[in-house]
Amino acid sequence: MSLQLTDVSKSFGRLGVLDAVSIDVPRGARLAIVGASGSGKSTLLRIIAGFERPDSGTVALDGRALAGRGADVPAHRRGIGYVAQDGALFPHLTVARNIAFGIRRRPDRARRVRDVMDIASLDPALADRYPHQLSGGQQQRVALARALALEPSVILLDEPFSALDTGLRAHTRTAMVEALDRSGVTTVLVTHDQEEALAFGHQIGVIADGRLVQSGRPSEVFDAPVDAEIAEFLGDVV
Ligand code: ADP
Ligand code: MG
Repeated sequence: MSLQLTDVSKSFGRLGVLDAVSIDVPRGARLAIVGASGSGKSTLLRIIAGFERPDSGTVALDGRALAGRGADVPAHRRGIGYVAQDGALFPHLTVARNIAFGIRRRPDRARRVRDVMDIASLDPALADRYPHQLSGGQQQRVALARALALEPSVILLDEPFSALDTGLRAHTRTAMVEALDRSGVTTVLVTHDQEEALAFGHQIGVIADGRLVQSGRPSEVFDAPVDAEIAEFLGDVV
């Protein structure tokens, strides 16, 4: 499904965190939002997921409001998957059980677990391992598989590669992009890493102090930053 945010604002007490953020992600597209630490990226994802409520503005899927305009659909009914920075796997459950965790209809479970493991390029032999027996990259792919197992229409990725060392990062990113493409799910990734955003997004958004200051195709954003501050922030890459 397509995802729309319209003028989403959020404060915590007197701290303004998001200021009238609007985004529109077409069905199946990948949006990468890049911004410095503390710029409001995680808060934005938490509002989309339904873990936080916006003070004003709306979040909608295919034009149907989830938050705002009188709507307040709870997180577990949104059909939105969330993958945290450290994967947040259940340490006491095997890979297969982690992935099966939220699947309600029993007859489907084993097949669905195999399917999403395949989509996430996870060797079936890993099914009986525990998270601590996996590499960081494998753990992140299990986290993605667990999210995909619930057949979400949108996946949110909060700095999913930051905890990985450089060697694993590109490989894990490629595997995850392939998995997302195969499942056709609409995706929003947030990161402080410009290179990561560039490699991941069909569209790039730049967030600074809670405002989406620029958005467009990767080449538009990186070749023509709207102001000197953004040029400096993006400068490492170009
Ligand atoms: P980012 O993910 O870009 O690093 P966050 O969205 O986590 O940024 O945080 C943006 C700002 O909002 C930070 O100053 C952070 O301390 C503050 N913040 C985030 N969540 C809360 C909260 N639940 N209560 C108070 N302040 C918060
Ligand atoms: Mg964050």
